[in-house]
Amino acid sequence: MVQLPMKISHNRPLVLAEDRAAVDAALSSGWLAAGPEVAGLEAEFIDYFGRGRACAVSSGTAALYIALRALGVSATDNVAIPTYACSALLNAIQMSGAKPIPVDVRRDNYTLEPNALEQKHAETPFSAIIAVHTYGAAANMTTICSLGPPVIEDCCQSLGSAPAGQPLGLAGAAAVFSFYATKVITSGHGGLLFDKEGVIAAKAHDYRAFDGRENYAPRFNFHLSDIQAALVRQQFQRLATIRQRRNWIAEKYHTALSEGYGMQAGMLDRNMMVYRFIVEAPSAETRDRLRHKLLEQGIETIVPLERFELLHRYLNLDPLDFPNAEMIVDRTLSLPIHLSLSDEDVARVGAALENATQY
Ligand SMILES: *Cc1c(COP(=O)(O)O)cnc(C)c1O
Repeated sequence: MVQLPMKISHNRPLVLAEDRAAVDAALSSGWLAAGPEVAGLEAEFIDYFGRGRACAVSSGTAALYIALRALGVSATDNVAIPTYACSALLNAIQMSGAKPIPVDVRRDNYTLEPNALEQKHAETPFSAIIAVHTYGAAANMTTICSLGPPVIEDCCQSLGSAPAGQPLGLAGAAAVFSFYATKVITSGHGGLLFDKEGVIAAKAHDYRAFDGRENYAPRFNFHLSDIQAALVRQQFQRLATIRQRRNWIAEKYHTALSEGYGMQAGMLDRNMMVYRFIVEAPSAETRDRLRHKLLEQGIETIVPLERFELLHRYLNLDPLDFPNAEMIVDRTLSLPIHLSLSDEDVARVGAALENATQY
């Protein structure tokens, strides 16, 4: 019988003994709902940014929705978003009643294309922008913020990225984070909203919980539990180590990469949290062949975003207006890059990449 190589998963959360101990302590405390652990997590985010206010919530999507609501976005508003992004952006905007305006992305790092954004703003003025730091790469915040409308920084994929030593999340009106299972740090599900002035987060605190209020106003239940917060806090402490390990893996893959294959811009910046290691093949055919050949060697990869998932496609807009995004979805492949990979796993992926041109 042929011995198949051990499978290397595209993603696998790493849970250490101290994480289990922290969850166990939360379970033993008699307090499972949002309580001291959630407050502790929020305080640690404020420490991390050196200012502001934080509000832990049930998901990144909830954080996006609350941020839009806190900014006063409603049915008469347009909200600009990168078309190359998670459909959570569309959902949050639909929930607010506003109209989503997808914009093309930069060819090199897949973040909002500032010129396209400015042009769209002239055609259909919008009252808010959601800018995604795609796979950890920073969007052009200075240019984007200079347009005028408030900017929500979607940091769901970029927690730990700090270009020039400044953590992403301080440029816009608010920043949102996700602790979903595939993200940099995770509690299975979860999210957080941060803002440096404390205004948006204060509104989020009010909207997050409905219980025991003197004045009635529509509110929801968007809590994170103390069990989840205990798990996230442990990983948050290890953020620098997590980034170093991901940087190290990215460098190994980069060195192994065959000629003709590129990668998302910015991935070798040591200040960046490499959330995904994105290989760019010369064509759709070579991308699919690489994926197939890696799988034969037990290496799981994903196409990070399929063409049908582009937000302008969901909204039935003309694909010709989004040439960069249309090209990116054809050629990109996401390789395993996470803390559960052993050095041997990384070496195996590297060796498989070295052969890519022969596939
Ligand atoms: C994951 C993600 C979200 C949504 O977060 P959830 O916690 O899954 O709701 C939003 N935006 C981006 C860019 C994401 O990667």
